[in-house]
Amino acid sequence: METIVKENISTPSVLEQIEKLGHEQVVFCQDQNTGLKAIIAVHNTVLGPAAGGTRMWMYQNEADALRDVLRLSRGMTFKNAINGLNLGGGKAVIIGDARKEKSEAKFRAFGKFVESLGGKYITAEDVGIGTADMEYVAMETKYVAGKPEFMGGSGDPSPVTAYGVYMGIKASAKRVYGSDSLNGKKVALQGVGHVGQYLLEHLLKENCTVYISDFYEDRAKEVSQKFGVEAVDKDKIYDLDVDIYAPCALGATINEDTLSRLKCNIIAGAANNQLADEKIHGDWCRDKGILYAPDFLINGGGIINVYYEVIGNYNRERAYKHAEKIYDTLLNIFETAQRESINTHEAALKLAMQRIEAMGKLKLTR
Ligand code: NAD
Repeated sequence: METIVKENISTPSVLEQIEKLGHEQVVFCQDQNTGLKAIIAVHNTVLGPAAGGTRMWMYQNEADALRDVLRLSRGMTFKNAINGLNLGGGKAVIIGDARKEKSEAKFRAFGKFVESLGGKYITAEDVGIGTADMEYVAMETKYVAGKPEFMGGSGDPSPVTAYGVYMGIKASAKRVYGSDSLNGKKVALQGVGHVGQYLLEHLLKENCTVYISDFYEDRAKEVSQKFGVEAVDKDKIYDLDVDIYAPCALGATINEDTLSRLKCNIIAGAANNQLADEKIHGDWCRDKGILYAPDFLINGGGIINVYYEVIGNYNRERAYKHAEKIYDTLLNIFETAQRESINTHEAALKLAMQRIEAMGKLKLTR
């Protein structure tokens, strides 16, 4: 097993990408015995060790995987900052099919790479990864959270993520409709994996009509039958006449194509990096009269939960209370955006940056 600073793909362009987004360190990992191919990206450690989940996905090529991990880790920096956590931003991706290519050895090999960073990066679950996988990772490193409860961990972070997103949807409804009741609202929910299903439960309790889609048709069908909701084709989800679009799958689903199709008043979901281009599509939402709830704020519940595991004496109630603050922070963001004539994503970034800068200066004082 070895850590490689990639040389065979054009080095300047990789470094240029890293420089442009402001990363501190990117580690390419491969292990021939297990077939592990992974990238760990440490974006910023001003607030604390870089923390963020590991994603396992069938990337078409290495460039896509790199792009994803760079964008995701940057998002973690702002997510941790805006949610008041003493954690920096990091993320990892494992290239592969999470349904077919998992093994104990592969996750333990990955755990060794995480350990080799000496605590600069703390991992947890993301798309394609569950607590059972983290159990293997934890056999090789202590820098892992979201461990199963029997190992003293906080378990799956998804329920807290879903709760935070639900708070975000309610705050958005308050802003748009004057009431945060979701009674009777129509919601298009994209992606019914871990977070999507927990969010679905909250929405159904509030008497929403929910349409679901998933990349895997069998999963969409199963969830549709279990919860009695309508499943639609994954490409049709953008064309529904709904009040709220809740993206809970992968990123960049708010783009030129979808913005010309979406008919909703609110976009609020769990997916990371929802805006294909933060400026262009953030402005587009505003100009189209769609209220966009910045993803890195409202999907912070999971990392909040992980944070309470990392600092020790994990307390679920405290994690939920902390996630509840997303409601008020989001209402403040909406006000700032309006007052300063900027889009909501920019307003959230500004708040996150303010905290990073203030804490960065504090570190310089003795
Ligand atoms: P998951 O893997 O459990 O679920 C994701 C689901 O999205 C899967 O069922 C997948 O098949 C589906 N999907 C992928 N592409 C799709 C498409 N084009 N259309 C419809 N469905 C599609 O992952 P998760 O943990 O539920 O995470 C969902 C999103 O929320 C991700 O973007 C993740 O980064 C983000 N997020 C998750 C957490 C967490 O606590 N798990 C925390 C913060 C953010």
